[in-house]
Amino acid sequence: MTEEQPDPKKGLMHGKKGIVLGIANNRSIAWAIASALRREGAEIAITYQGDIFKKRVIPLAETLQSPIVENCDVTDDESVALLAQKLKNQWGSIDFIVHAIAYTEKENLKGSYLQTTKENFAKTLDISCFSLTKLCQELTPLMKNGGSIITLTYYGAERYVPNYNLMAVAKAALEASVRYLAVDLAEHNIRINSLSAGTVKTLAASGIGDFRYIMATNALNTPLKRNVTLEEIGNAGLYLLSDLSSGVTGSTHFVDCGFNISGMLKPSTLPQLEELVGYPLL
Ligand code: NAD
Repeated sequence: MTEEQPDPKKGLMHGKKGIVLGIANNRSIAWAIASALRREGAEIAITYQGDIFKKRVIPLAETLQSPIVENCDVTDDESVALLAQKLKNQWGSIDFIVHAIAYTEKENLKGSYLQTTKENFAKTLDISCFSLTKLCQELTPLMKNGGSIITLTYYGAERYVPNYNLMAVAKAALEASVRYLAVDLAEHNIRINSLSAGTVKTLAASGIGDFRYIMATNALNTPLKRNVTLEEIGNAGLYLLSDLSSGVTGSTHFVDCGFNISGMLKPSTLPQLEELVGYPLL
């Protein structure tokens, strides 16, 4: 084995340090990604959003053996600046960032997009989209040896999905941000990609209207005939954050059991579909 090759026994992420934002509990996508990174030897700093989440996140931080566990609310510039300072003081440099943060008022995840208010639009885009740019501004100066960043997005950014409404607009803007940030950050040898996950039942997702219906029709519509697992999303995140994806930046990478390439259900799905809607379709 040459010096340049990682030791497989030490893991793909051995020697790398980074920050994961967006763990609410052990069903969070951020938790699945952090677990995959840790399994492969990464050192991980994590954040929680205020005291409500703190008590759930602290035990998870212990499982990850995280040396840095900080409060960070992305709407508060000072809290983001303090996070950057803490990482700088303790580690000096970082290699990866996971942005798995989104928020909108529940009223925006049901009914029609037409009812969106200016206030909700601004708040949703601030938390779910601009926060990525803000974190890049504050944290990429710490990526002294280059690095990799991912954010979480969803297919609703590209095509209509019932009730996704304002969050779809935020995700479309987020994906566009990633393409522009990819060019800006490339000169510092930093890559950034969107990971477009299929539907999973998390705290944030349970706020989406008719989510059980979305999960069920989603599973029927995928070539793999099921919904993606948290572990699969974690492993896809690991790929994008590791050197395995060194040639990939600015992309939207789907981990959704193929839902995004599916145009219409196969007729053989009819029995399950009839069971779902409760009446004959042909
Ligand atoms: P989750 O509820 O576990 O995570 C959402 C996180 O956002 C929470 O940890 C919350 O604390 C954080 N957050 C919200 N507002 C914040 C703020 N102001 N400051 C700091 N943190 C804040 O749900 P999740 O589904 O794991 O969501 C993670 C990401 O994955 C989101 O971007 C979501 O849109 C995306 N995503 C989810 C699905 C799905 O089906 N669950 C599919 C595709 C993409």
